[in-house]
Amino acid sequence: MSDFYLALVLGLSVLAQTLAAWIALRQMAEVGGRYRLAWGCVSLALALMVERRLAPLWRHLAATDLENAADAWFGLAISLLMAVGVWGIRRLFIDLNDQAARLDALARTDVLTGLPNRREVLERIAAELERAARTGHPTSLLMFDIDRFKRVNDTHGHAAGDCVLRAVAAIARASLRRIDVCGRVGGEEFLVLLPDADAEAALAAAERLRAAIAARAMHCVDQTLHITVSVGVVTRVPGETASLDALVQAADLALYAAKDAGRDRVVVA
Ligand code: GH3
Ligand code: MG
Ligand code: MG
Repeated sequence: MSDFYLALVLGLSVLAQTLAAWIALRQMAEVGGRYRLAWGCVSLALALMVERRLAPLWRHLAATDLENAADAWFGLAISLLMAVGVWGIRRLFIDLNDQAARLDALARTDVLTGLPNRREVLERIAAELERAARTGHPTSLLMFDIDRFKRVNDTHGHAAGDCVLRAVAAIARASLRRIDVCGRVGGEEFLVLLPDADAEAALAAAERLRAAIAARAMHCVDQTLHITVSVGVVTRVPGETASLDALVQAADLALYAAKDAGRDRVVVA
């Protein structure tokens, strides 16, 4: 092999080895906590091996030693394999992270309506109550339940019932502010967090939501359905220390008072 081609192979080995070390270094910078040490060790080892590729190139260029062509090709193959291997393992980590994020989102979402599920909405409320206690803001919750929903299922079938659930979820979402969190917490029961909403604002939001659902004709499975909901409202004003459970229970009691009073109405706890 001519001097030029031998230098080229040695130079490519340096590049491939540097690339392998750089990929590992990037992964170390991005990866969290307990994997960082492992990636740090891999990057350091791969970076130290760059010297093993530079030395023969240097000797060759300085003509102090005649490099063996077979060794040069061997070195290039090893460095290329390392770069491709490290790249593959980095991809694996990225894919695993994406999958974990997707699974986490799925575990927090109600599949039928796409709304946050019970676990997610309760966590968000707990976090908001803590924040509100620090900042001295009010927090309100709405609990609403579809009226006579069993009748929809019994008369028009479960597919129509599911369609109504999706429609109610969409109308509720559209009638609320972006910062409000509306989740499905039971079969046909929903819980809404209204951050920074005092009793007056919460009552207005509840009434707006109730009226929006009552006003809309829902087209489900060849039927036109008119659905209503009953809503319970509770507000925690600054200075109060009511717990998450106590507030949800109060909203639930208010909801059942709305049912007792004839449905399609809002009751404040
Ligand atoms: P009320 O006005 O007192 O709330 O009466 P209701 O009929 O709405 O209440 P009830 O608790 O008797 O019935 C709730 C029904 O909701 C019973 C159950 O079959 C139905 N349901 C719960 N989850 C789902 C679901 O995911 N899809 C469908 N289609 N129906 C559901
Ligand atoms: Mg119901
Ligand atoms: Mg119910």
